[in-house]
Amino acid sequence: MSGRKGPGNPEGRGGPGDAEGVPRWDGPRWIGAPPAPPPEPLDATAVLELYRRAGGLRHGHFVLSSGRHSDTYLQSAVVLQWPALAAALGRALAAPWRGRVDVVVGPAMGGVVIGHETAGALGVRMVFTERVDGAMALRRSFVVAAGERALVVENVVTTGGSALEVAELLRAAGADVAGLATIVDRLPEGATLPLELHALARVTAASWDPDNCPACGSGSGPEAPGSRRGLPSTRR
Ligand SMILES: [Zn+2]
Repeated sequence: MSGRKGPGNPEGRGGPGDAEGVPRWDGPRWIGAPPAPPPEPLDATAVLELYRRAGGLRHGHFVLSSGRHSDTYLQSAVVLQWPALAAALGRALAAPWRGRVDVVVGPAMGGVVIGHETAGALGVRMVFTERVDGAMALRRSFVVAAGERALVVENVVTTGGSALEVAELLRAAGADVAGLATIVDRLPEGATLPLELHALARVTAASWDPDNCPACGSGSGPEAPGSRRGLPSTRR
């Protein structure tokens, strides 16, 4: 696949670390003017293209927030910063669940923005969970009632651990957990969850303990994009 020629990519080539040659709009190009939302319904290709253009999906050598090294960097916030894109993704996530959900529940932070958009598309309310002393909890006077049909929404499911904790919390409140909706499924190959899961796209990514990272072994230094601050003053 060759890169598309355009104002952000005058040579028609992918940037360094962009193995698939797709131009990234991770510079000032997407600051200020909102990108046009893609035509709907969104398929997996369109969703991943949105992530690539926003700089939310990159290939290379990265340090994740967990400290592990990976060949793939995935960040939903840079996509969801645009309300029109968040709303389009929320509509796509809502589609399989229409008429089956009374409340959307998202774990903070990753489930908050996209959960709210999904709830808006379903015409139901949205609450979010937070960790209190490490345990998932509903705060801020949020209540999920016994018998309510609850949909868990996340931006990315990596292990499913947070989603399953939310489901457990909801069941303890007597709610009926309808399932889990996520923009990106990056579960390990072959992994399954004990919940009905609908994802808009799937990303497979390798990660390693830093002491055992093949990219480090070949002498390349990892990027830490998650710690990079987006203040304009950091740009020269
Ligand atoms: Zn490494």
